[in-house]
Amino acid sequence: MERPVSARLFAEAQRHIPGGVSSPVRAFKAVGGTPPFLVRGEGAYVWDADGNRYLDYVLSWGPLILGHAHPEVLARVEEVAKRGLTFGAPHPLEAELAQAVKRAYPGVELVRFVNSGTEATMSALRLARGYTGRKYLVKFRGNYHGHADGLLVEAGSGALTLGVPSSAGVPEEYAKLTLVLEYNDPEALRALLRARGEEIAAIIFEPVVGNAGVLVPTEEFLKALHEARDYGVLLVADEVMTGFRLGFGGATERFGLRPDLVTLGKILGGGLPAAAYGGRREIMEKVAPLGPVYQAGTLSGNPLAMAAGLATLGILEKNPGYYARLEEVGAGLEAGLREVLSRKGIPHAVNRVGSMLTVFFTEGPVRTFAEARRTDTELFRRFFHGLLDRGVYWPPSNFEAAFLSIAHGEAEVALTLEALERVL
Ligand SMILES: *Cc1c(COP(=O)(O)O)cnc(C)c1O
Repeated sequence: MERPVSARLFAEAQRHIPGGVSSPVRAFKAVGGTPPFLVRGEGAYVWDADGNRYLDYVLSWGPLILGHAHPEVLARVEEVAKRGLTFGAPHPLEAELAQAVKRAYPGVELVRFVNSGTEATMSALRLARGYTGRKYLVKFRGNYHGHADGLLVEAGSGALTLGVPSSAGVPEEYAKLTLVLEYNDPEALRALLRARGEEIAAIIFEPVVGNAGVLVPTEEFLKALHEARDYGVLLVADEVMTGFRLGFGGATERFGLRPDLVTLGKILGGGLPAAAYGGRREIMEKVAPLGPVYQAGTLSGNPLAMAAGLATLGILEKNPGYYARLEEVGAGLEAGLREVLSRKGIPHAVNRVGSMLTVFFTEGPVRTFAEARRTDTELFRRFFHGLLDRGVYWPPSNFEAAFLSIAHGEAEVALTLEALERVL
């Protein structure tokens, strides 16, 4: 498959934009090569500037659960756009989308809209600190919550080690306020709570991890997370990826979670920039203008993103059968991948929850970030490029989730498995 136009566009973009991209993973650093410049999408497929077609498992990193260019979503956006793009004043669609969020998350009483998942988690944690009057946060290794300073932190060695920054530009003093633990290690979490529970404002976690590749939470880990409540620690479920994907009520509904605050994004905006945080009234009333925790946004709740989100959530709510279908197609893909990889004698672990899936190239099980890192990234690189050259666009890093949309069906699974056979 030739990509001369993408190669030329990429060279040009690199003269003007760091790495030629607006978000690092798009530059294909983990797998090498030239990223296709995508210029059109329809259903499960995308086309690059050279006219090549790909079956898309990236789906803009999660938002497009209905597939590309869904006609109802486009029509709704077009209709709203004709009347003006933004007003910086209250708009009727905001409360409508907030009500859809509340139907999905019955524990949420008030919702505040922002523009990105990063803003949602950053704001939710500011609120948690403002509400509790405490300064420490807890996160888990390999979980990603956007790029706010206090969340770009990894553990050093040892479960109780103070955070060290994982990005230049994050002061160590600041990173030290974030304590990092291994995901799926309930005992480490309990030990930290016993030792320092009273100093901790919030624990933020991905209820199913997508950002280390897919990691599935154990029941015991979810139980330990809820014990944080006994120490007055707020539990923040970061459902930016899982919200409206693992079911209309996300992971909260699927696993029966009881978070104090929820962060949403991706599917919430239906392909346009919208995200949100929400929770009990008593906590959310601390947000300005009702309370002392400041948070604002020029384009927050803008009509276009609200319209795309409402159209998307409306379609999901009207078609509860879509989630059963995503589960079924996901199970088919998982079984097919396992079968082909086993037959070819390639060590692998396929982690999947609903329409989120990762193939790790290591003997399983893969439950923690440390285990995920045992994957053979060189083998992944060849898997990725082999598929790409056969028209299957898999996420360009082994530490990312592949996504399905309702436009992915048995034909798409078959196409993927055929391509994989030939690659292997
Ligand atoms: C994508 C993601 C974010 C960040 O959202 P952006 O819109 O990219 O800022 C935060 N948390 C999780 C779990 C995500 O998957």
